[in-house]
Amino acid sequence: MSPAKKKSAANKTAAKKKPARKSAANKAPSRKSSNRPKIKLDDHVPPGPVDQAWTEYQKKAKLVNPANKRKYTVIVVGTGLAGGSAAASLGELGYNVKSFCIQDSPRRAHSVAAQGGINSAKNYPNDGDSVYRLFYDTVKGGDFRSREANVHRLAEVSVNIIDQCVAQGVPFAREYGGLLANRSFGGAQLQRTFYARGQTGQQLLLGAYSALMRQADSGSVEIFARREMLDLVVVDGRARGITVRNLVTGEIESHAADAVLLCTGGYSTVYYLSTNAVNSNPTAAWRCYKRGAAFANPCYTQIHPTCIPRMGDTQSKLTLMSESLRNDGRVWVPKKKGDQRKPKDIPEDERDYYLERKYPAFGNLVPRDIASRSAKEVCDAGYGVGPTGVAVYLDFKDAINRLGEDTIRARYGNLFDMYEEITADNPYKTPMMIYPAPHYTMGGLWVDYNLMTTIPGLFALGESNFSDHGANRLGASALMQGLADGYFVISSTLSNYLADIQPDGLTTEHKAFTSSVDEINAQVEKFMSMKGEKTADEIHRQLGTIMWDEVGMARSKAGLDKALREIPKLRKEFHSNIRIPGNAKDLNKELEKAGRVADCLELGELMAMDALHRNESCGGHFREESQTKEGEALRDDNKHCTVQAWEFKGETTKPSLHIEKLDFKTVQLSQRSYK
Ligand SMILES: Cc1cc2nc3c(=O)[nH]c(=O)nc-3n(C[C@H](O)[C@H](O)[C@H](O)COP(=O)(O)OP(=O)(O)OC[C@H]3O[C@@H](n4cnc5c(N)ncnc54)[C@H](O)[C@@H]3O)c2cc1C
Repeated sequence: MSPAKKKSAANKTAAKKKPARKSAANKAPSRKSSNRPKIKLDDHVPPGPVDQAWTEYQKKAKLVNPANKRKYTVIVVGTGLAGGSAAASLGELGYNVKSFCIQDSPRRAHSVAAQGGINSAKNYPNDGDSVYRLFYDTVKGGDFRSREANVHRLAEVSVNIIDQCVAQGVPFAREYGGLLANRSFGGAQLQRTFYARGQTGQQLLLGAYSALMRQADSGSVEIFARREMLDLVVVDGRARGITVRNLVTGEIESHAADAVLLCTGGYSTVYYLSTNAVNSNPTAAWRCYKRGAAFANPCYTQIHPTCIPRMGDTQSKLTLMSESLRNDGRVWVPKKKGDQRKPKDIPEDERDYYLERKYPAFGNLVPRDIASRSAKEVCDAGYGVGPTGVAVYLDFKDAINRLGEDTIRARYGNLFDMYEEITADNPYKTPMMIYPAPHYTMGGLWVDYNLMTTIPGLFALGESNFSDHGANRLGASALMQGLADGYFVISSTLSNYLADIQPDGLTTEHKAFTSSVDEINAQVEKFMSMKGEKTADEIHRQLGTIMWDEVGMARSKAGLDKALREIPKLRKEFHSNIRIPGNAKDLNKELEKAGRVADCLELGELMAMDALHRNESCGGHFREESQTKEGEALRDDNKHCTVQAWEFKGETTKPSLHIEKLDFKTVQLSQRSYK
């Protein structure tokens, strides 16, 4: 954007969102491309220095009068850290909020599983941290593929998050003197991660949940648990509501609003086996994509280096061992290929601490993409350990000798217990065995600086958007982003949008809602009547194998072409050969799965397409054709310093690609080095 063109982003955004004055009562909506909003990627970042952007935005953002806020209804889909914090904050501000989730209680959202911690530039340890340094580490960690202004805002807001959570009573770990304790996470040479043992997500979520329930109690938030969003309702080009299935009664319901916030998490379950909860799914985001929201960087997925290795073919999920363990655990493999000795019988000089050897500056705390690729490299070369040879050791012997078992138990006790329960090995006595697994998705719905998607009135927060982590998320930054978006960013950007919209009393009688309900009913009917031979899980597992083999830790043109041939075949089989027992007017887990697997099959194909188009290696996206002599990721900044955003063009037409060019004004583009 040229400086002359850059007016205040807040004003520009507001100017674009003129309310549709006329109701479209007689227009039946359809998914024809002519009926979807035209896509134009404008980041709406305020002009001027990146470190002033948020201050400038807030100076100029429009406000909604407190007395008028209750006239606006805002739908928040998702009650994880992003959705829970957003619904609580907007309820507190006085908006009329409807909060939806698929679990039986908002506090069971997947964020509850987060273990290791949350970053913030508080600099309590006095080790040289600052907003700039957190911003810099995040941009560099993301391999220079994120939008600078969004990341800077994230770093600025990070300091408020900790205060907010402490005020709610979140029991962060403390030093002897009472100050909040910090530890290190990958990609940083200092300590900025706040934590509550290995249960940080659970404690943060309980904080957001209590804030949310306070609003529910006061009447500003209405909770709709056990509801699955299956469609976005767009009226006159604006997001105006959602269609959901009541997961207990099977009823299809409509809900109207003045804006919709999507906070539905990530899509790692496309790989079938991942560290995510089995219930996590891309359906809500995918249905928004099909209504006109661009999907950005779908191929950017994070394969987390420290997970318990896969044990067999019947597993439904994988278990993460938090990155925080790399503070004290040392990663190694035997120096001899195929060494079958027990780890305790392998002497020190016959061990290869390969991360410390290859990356002396960061050692075991290199970012996740680098640690994962290194583990794959040593296993592929025959140095892997355990019965399958597809694992490496994470060893606490030195830390226990240095600090004592009690200290290690205090830091990671619940993680060690979890490991022992799953593997029957005691990690205080023998090293853990770990291997990388699909974990987090940096891709998601494209959003501008307002967190608004390409559909006016549809916002995406937390892991469901693509916004802040570029091609690789640093550990402990997802919780930070979800809470930044929900507690601090959306309150300003939503009011800036709503200030120009007059509440118009739209109801679910509108044809757009009834058509959406008809479409969902037809889809349910089609699934139920198929009476084929395979379960949705069987097809999902097959998809997972294709995705892991061809769109996993390393990708090549040949492999991606293969995936693009195999996924459509699998999709065809799915749509002619699945069997769903039971009926649709009841709790039916198989029906729920079928809808989600249908979406995973389509998204999986888009991920492969996106990966094929990005003919460079960056962060979690490693193209075998693009590497340095030492096997490190080789970016192509001339061609690919971009965001790739895909537009749905119809069921039988290829999506079209829109490019946002990334402009680095503050951080200099450089080849990442952790040596
Ligand atoms: C095991 C594990 C450990 C992690 N540890 C850390 C950590 O230590 N630090 C860190 O920063 N990050 C961590 N992460 C990542 C982090 O937990 C997530 O990125 C983050 O919690 C996502 O929050 P969210 O609010 O965006 O989504 P989620 O918490 O996934 O919430 C999604 C919400 O959307 C709802 N939903 C989904 N689909 C629908 C639908 N169709 N209709 C209605 N509702 C729907 C769900 O019910 C849920 O309420 C970890 C991730 C995992 C898997």
